[in-house]
Amino acid sequence: MSGEARPVAPAPRRWLADEMLGRLARYLRFLGEDTSYVRGLDDREVARLAEEERRILVTRDRALARRARGAKLLTSGHLPNQLRELFLAFPDLPRTVRFDRCPECNALLERWPVPASSDAWPAELPKSRVLAGLDVWACTPCSRRYWDGSHATRIRSVVAQAAGGIPTP
Ligand SMILES: [Zn+2]
Repeated sequence: MSGEARPVAPAPRRWLADEMLGRLARYLRFLGEDTSYVRGLDDREVARLAEEERRILVTRDRALARRARGAKLLTSGHLPNQLRELFLAFPDLPRTVRFDRCPECNALLERWPVPASSDAWPAELPKSRVLAGLDVWACTPCSRRYWDGSHATRIRSVVAQAAGGIPTP
């Protein structure tokens, strides 16, 4: 086998973000990408996990990147630039925020039937917007609730900044 051979990303594509890339992992999940985030494992274990789960390892650690086939080595320490590196390297990576996956645990979100009594609502849920029909999403494994708020506006603007000027494929 040639040393030049590059493994083809499996379909559907999945990611593994290393310990230094927790924020990037959240952003990949915002884009709808299945992204594992690992901490406390040594390089060998991280590389093995990526291989076993057929995930593209994303890392800033050159030595770690060398251990995992098809790993993407990032050079920037700055989140928007890291995203930009991924947009450039993977032109089919979605550039719009989907919010269909929990940024904390990677599980797919489900629409949360908002209870009639607002006593059961998360304290920070904007009550007037819920009454006006705001959709709320739930993560079953970690019991978090999500809705489109000011944080979503910030996230969209980071993604737009990162993808700015990159031609669509
Ligand atoms: Zn979750």
